[in-house]
Amino acid sequence: MPELPEVETVKNGLTKYLSNKTILAVDYDWDKSFPNSKGYVDNYLIEAKILKLRRRGKALIIDLDSGYSLLIHLKMTGQLVYKGKDQKFGAGHPNDSLVGSLPDKSTRVTIKLSDDNQNISTLFFNDQRKFGWMRLVPTIEVENINFMKKLGPEPLEPTTTSKVFKQRLLRRKNSGIKAVLLDQTVIAGIGNIYADECLWMSKIHPETRTGSLSDAAMNKLFVHIKQVFTTSINSGGSTDKNYVNADGQKGSYLKFAKVFRREGQPCERCGSEIIKIKVAGRGTHICPKCQRLKK
Ligand SMILES: [Zn+2]
Repeated sequence: MPELPEVETVKNGLTKYLSNKTILAVDYDWDKSFPNSKGYVDNYLIEAKILKLRRRGKALIIDLDSGYSLLIHLKMTGQLVYKGKDQKFGAGHPNDSLVGSLPDKSTRVTIKLSDDNQNISTLFFNDQRKFGWMRLVPTIEVENINFMKKLGPEPLEPTTTSKVFKQRLLRRKNSGIKAVLLDQTVIAGIGNIYADECLWMSKIHPETRTGSLSDAAMNKLFVHIKQVFTTSINSGGSTDKNYVNADGQKGSYLKFAKVFRREGQPCERCGSEIIKIKVAGRGTHICPKCQRLKK
């Protein structure tokens, strides 16, 4: 699943192709991908101009001049493919749909766009497993819908200080730290890859009870989350499942990964073999020597 850096990469990439385009037509074949489409599409999507793209957690927000915003969550297998006259850009999980002709059987929503010179282009929302969604919401209500309200603070926002971060973590002080990091209501945007990376960097075992972490350990963890996200955004997201960014370039973060998908290889810090265990139901990569579980 795309995490914060991947969605940020999608947002940055698509911004230059979608900004100022007008939506001409919308097709969808799967109601659950677009639950409130009836009525809303004609009134607030058709003929609307795209003003800007934003991200909150792992969700993409497209603000329209109709006063509504189109929210998109790619979930497990979602994919956005933009096709212009001479341009094609895919973002999300690439399978054949990214390179093949569209729409295909994974296409859930097709949005036809026009620029000011009447050049036609298309944005396809493909989603094989159908967990992703699009939703139209009044722009002023975006922050108030349930999904957004429940989301924790953005780790890269200046208002999210280490004090805020620690307070959020300690809401679940009896849970293991990895489960807490994955909880989007505690802090937004962290998924499996980056949780493993940050915990390795901070020398914290993923099953450590959050309430037993020292102040210094939580501070260090927070610094590492920001560092790992920034590095990943700068390198175009991770390559998990051949994730590609909006320009069709594969992200390169996994080249920098220290533990994720590196089981059997030596830890860069101490030379011990990285192992894969299961924590919070997820495949988890650790150095058993650097990340000892302190009881
Ligand atoms: Zn180590």
